[in-house]
Amino acid sequence: MNIFSGLKDFLGQINNLDGAISNKGRDLAEVYAKNIVLEEEIAARTKELEQANQTILTLNSVWEMMNSSQPLSSMLNKIVSILHEDMGYRFVAILKLMDEESSSPYFSTMSVSANSQVDKLYDAMGVSRETYKIPYIRNSIIARAMNEKQIYSTPDISGVIGMFFPSLTPEQCEEYAMMTQSKIFSIVPLVGKQGEYKACVLVTSDRNDITDTESNFLTLYANQIELAIVVANLFEEVQKQAITDPLTGLYNRRYFEDSIIKEAERSLRLKQPFSLIAMDLDFLKKINDTYGHQYGDLAIKTIANVLKTEARSIDIAARLGGEEFDLMLPGIDSRGAQIAAERIRKAIESQKLETIGGITASIGVATFLEHSDRVDELVELADQAMYKAKISGRNQVQVAQRDSEINWQQIAVETFTDILVKKRIPVSDELAAAIEEKLNAIKNIDKNSKDTLSSIVDMLSQTYNQMYKTGTTKSKLILAVMLAKRLDLSTEEINKLRLAILLYDIGNIMIPEEIFNKKEPLTEKERLIIKQHPVIAAREILKPISNIQDIIPIIESHHENWDGNGYPENKSGGDIPITSQIVLLVDSFYAMTQDRPYRQAYTVDEVLEIINEQSGKRWNEQLVKDFVYIIKNENTR
Ligand code: GH3
Ligand code: MG
Repeated sequence: MNIFSGLKDFLGQINNLDGAISNKGRDLAEVYAKNIVLEEEIAARTKELEQANQTILTLNSVWEMMNSSQPLSSMLNKIVSILHEDMGYRFVAILKLMDEESSSPYFSTMSVSANSQVDKLYDAMGVSRETYKIPYIRNSIIARAMNEKQIYSTPDISGVIGMFFPSLTPEQCEEYAMMTQSKIFSIVPLVGKQGEYKACVLVTSDRNDITDTESNFLTLYANQIELAIVVANLFEEVQKQAITDPLTGLYNRRYFEDSIIKEAERSLRLKQPFSLIAMDLDFLKKINDTYGHQYGDLAIKTIANVLKTEARSIDIAARLGGEEFDLMLPGIDSRGAQIAAERIRKAIESQKLETIGGITASIGVATFLEHSDRVDELVELADQAMYKAKISGRNQVQVAQRDSEINWQQIAVETFTDILVKKRIPVSDELAAAIEEKLNAIKNIDKNSKDTLSSIVDMLSQTYNQMYKTGTTKSKLILAVMLAKRLDLSTEEINKLRLAILLYDIGNIMIPEEIFNKKEPLTEKERLIIKQHPVIAAREILKPISNIQDIIPIIESHHENWDGNGYPENKSGGDIPITSQIVLLVDSFYAMTQDRPYRQAYTVDEVLEIINEQSGKRWNEQLVKDFVYIIKNENTR
């Protein structure tokens, strides 16, 4: 082999090597390029994964929300804020198509993201984001997305703005489009399974396009929203069941009471009256006894149907229980309500029922702002009017009478305030603070002021009598008023009686505790203190308070006996105010049914026996008869 061929050979080898190296280099470059693509893909997938994670997380919280049975609006708001804040969409709204068949269909906004640029646009148009009716254009991209149930996107933001606000010029639309800093607008359709509604989610984004993955995410959210709507509708159904009376389909007491409170707030704000019609079926007991319970039920259902026919759509008709019905008439004054009540009464009277024949009802009317501006009082006044209709012969309408000039609860509040402020009785600072808090609470119109006042008296009574049961004063008030009504006392007398029930024992606070809670028999002197002192003290405490002067005589005589053997003045018979007799009777009843340091409580039957024994001695006989009737027949709790 000569040197040249050797060299050639060598060169050839180098060439080969070179080729191989350059091949390798190419391979490496390829690998490198492939690597970059792979890395990019990994980054993209990781991002998708993160987004998917985020989606799952947020969908999870949407799920939790749905399980907590929140109202639809708050669920939608939550979904919108997730899309806006967590998923980074610049503008998000959920719109529902309304009046699709009409000549001017529009979108109502179910939820919309908070976004200052968009706010500016709404503000400039002088409309609110929540109530603005967005025109629906039948051949628009939005309509297409909803009809074809597909996500559509467009970069023409200004075109969309022009569609939402037709009064803007193209230049203005361009300007606002710039402000939104969005590059693409997408419509995600929402369609009920049975096509029961048409709606869409709108999102804008500062990205150039919407990717397939993004479309998938949005579809997932759309499914959640559709589900939320289904759940909310079911929830509404359940709620509806919770507010209706099963026998009649009228609203139940709870819903009715809530409605009155809301209406009262509205009424006070707008200075517009509303009326209450209270109604009770006459002689239901007789119907039950004569024809059987199912005919009693038929009578009840008949009244309900009359109410359903006679009420306007904004009226609220309710069955409060048993044979009691109430109708609330927003915006109607007492004259209007009287006419409505009379129409209802006639309609009931003209019903012809199988087997029973005819039925009648007694009706009371009371009007907010006219008869009272307190809810609890209004309900009571309507009830009193109904009761008056009963005792005046049934099958008639009675209108409430305006409660005496200043109402008794107001007087009671003023009296307790005065007693506290002027320190007319010795109470601890804590108790004074607790009472003051209760007095303040009465200013809320939905607070039951009667119960609050009663609980104040309970607290005071418990300072000198540890055995005084909470709730006793409330029961005393109810019982005393029932008795007074059965005796047909005037509203004015009844209001005085109520104040007397709250105040008659206030003087007990002045009795030394050792005497009050003594287990051994009292000495003559102690007995005298127990007897005389409270009444004297009550007079002393109450005398300086001007608006309860006419209550003092009732309190002074509440230990006088019918036969003249009472104290302090040995008054007898008709000289004793009937209200004082009622106080004595109610007081004795509750004293005997509760434990005392020196004896155990009597049973109700034992107490009634004792009271009967004392009939004509301590008490007027008729009073005792009525009292026994009430305890045996009425629910006094
Ligand atoms: P008044 O004219 O004084 O109202 O007489 P009344 O018999 O209707 O009134 P009372 O309060 O004495 O009796 C009411 C009766 O209504 C007693 C109760 O058994 C009956 N009742 C209450 N709820 C229902 C019900 O849902 N169905 C039936 N059939 N009867 C009921
Ligand atoms: Mg009845």
